[in-house]
Amino acid sequence: MPHDPHDESHAARRVTGIPVSPGIAIGPAFIFGDILDEVETLAIEPSQVDAEIDRFVDAIGIVENELTRDAERVSRELGQDKADVFLVHSMILEDKMILESIQDRIRTGLVNAEAAVADEMKRVVGVLAASSDAYLRDRAYDVSDIGKRVIERMLGVWAHCPLSQPMVVVAKELRASDTVSMDRGRILGFVTELGGKESHAAILSRSLGVPAVVGVRGVLERVRTGDLVVVDGDEGAAIIDPPPALVERYRNRRETDARGNAALTALTDLPAVTTDGVRVGLMCNIGSVEEAREAAALNADGVGLFRTETVFMAAGEFLDEEEQYRVYRAAVEAMSGRPVTIRTLDVGGDKFVGPENPLREHNPNLGYRSTRVMLNRPEVFIAQMKAILRAGAHGDARVLWPMICTLEELRAANGMLGRAKDLLREEGVPFREDTPAGVMIEIPSAAIMADRLAAECDFLSVGTNDLVQYTLAVDRGNPYVDYLFRPHDPAVLALIERAVEGAASAGKPLALCGEMGGEPVYVPLLLGLGVRELSVAPTRLLLVKKAIRETDGSRARKLATRAAAADAAGEVEELLGLPPSSVGRSEAE
Ligand code: PEP
Ligand code: MG
Repeated sequence: MPHDPHDESHAARRVTGIPVSPGIAIGPAFIFGDILDEVETLAIEPSQVDAEIDRFVDAIGIVENELTRDAERVSRELGQDKADVFLVHSMILEDKMILESIQDRIRTGLVNAEAAVADEMKRVVGVLAASSDAYLRDRAYDVSDIGKRVIERMLGVWAHCPLSQPMVVVAKELRASDTVSMDRGRILGFVTELGGKESHAAILSRSLGVPAVVGVRGVLERVRTGDLVVVDGDEGAAIIDPPPALVERYRNRRETDARGNAALTALTDLPAVTTDGVRVGLMCNIGSVEEAREAAALNADGVGLFRTETVFMAAGEFLDEEEQYRVYRAAVEAMSGRPVTIRTLDVGGDKFVGPENPLREHNPNLGYRSTRVMLNRPEVFIAQMKAILRAGAHGDARVLWPMICTLEELRAANGMLGRAKDLLREEGVPFREDTPAGVMIEIPSAAIMADRLAAECDFLSVGTNDLVQYTLAVDRGNPYVDYLFRPHDPAVLALIERAVEGAASAGKPLALCGEMGGEPVYVPLLLGLGVRELSVAPTRLLLVKKAIRETDGSRARKLATRAAAADAAGEVEELLGLPPSSVGRSEAE
């Protein structure tokens, strides 16, 4: 039947949000949700009651062991005070009233153990969440976490994302730890209710090369697992249960895109050089050894950013020096002599190894994250740097420190790097003595002090995702303020320029590894500001190379001068031919 454009049922099922990864995906939806809401309630016979209770008791035993192990590890690696959350979780598991009530639900309600746990935990969460006491309200998260964990162990799954076929993942929010546990080969695209342009789910979708739309309000009320969904990552829309003619149109667009991508592959062996002959270093951002191989296949000039926390998150735990060494060595060998810039752990903020936000910080992005954590845990920091230094014996491994905000922090990191070298010398283990070490410029203070920082390290790397967040006070993962997340804001451009000048005055190289560098529209602007090295997601590399090869140096300089002198982001939008962003509008409206 032809689609009637006035048919409300179809019009009502197009939802819009923020496009964060381009392209078209078409496939069945998978609702990645809260396991507490999803467990099936199954009726059981009285004769099965004991077996169900045993399953429940066994799962509690497994989770208790895991909690003890996690508590020991976190206490060893991050300090005893950071392990307190596990104590709270253990206390919930030992709560007699909760345990008895669950067993009672199985016995008298004659339901499976998973349903009994889910129902009881939801009841307790409801009571705590309604409390007027802030401490008790916070405990609702703990109860819900522990309930999920017990159910997962009973179901024999670690993370609840059983993609049975290639599917479009629809979720309220995807945290970094959710996405690492998915079967990536089966993800066709993402649609989420929350999240902003530079949330980690957005970065992951770009690195997987799948279309994604975030900040889509109310999408979960309109879609069920199995519904056909089109994700339009160019326009920022998702169409649920589209009429056949529309599916056909999107299929055609997808094919045109595929032809365009095939044309780009012709650029693989060509250099990233501007029309006036300036060679630009074009590197890849990676999160795994697999992606290092992709970078090599794309002929990248190296790896400008290896986010090591993704390796830890995928493993679900901290890796020791030897395990890390094997990973870094494999990445370095995959790049056969080209530089591999390995960033030390950037945990905290919205990235966690193990339990989500274990410190329950109210403002984690301004809190205990990244190098701040590492400087407090010298044994973890030094072990990671030893692994990187050792990988340097097999190729060009480099150390990169994230979230440096003061010169004292850089000096402390340099001191620990020296200590890592001393230890390797004492142990007689081969490593590269002159391993370069650099600083990420992600905080306005670091951009302002770039000359001083550059004087005491070997290179700088601008991380625009955080630099934009901290300069404009815009949470990079929050759809309500996403319209303000504008890397082309003149304030941000001024800081990038300052970092470029700071590096030049100290005679040190500077790269830019934030997602801004992966947007072709920003390439002439960045080159005009003096950036000569870009590191981008592998899926963006050829697009960026095309943009570099179309850039004329003197025009780029003029563009950058005018953009940097602009009074507001709107003027830069006009210069770049970007659609005007409207300030004052929020996704909440
Ligand atoms: C950045 O902040 O720009 C960056 C590259 O680091 P991440 O996105 O991992 O925070
Ligand atoms: Mg960052």
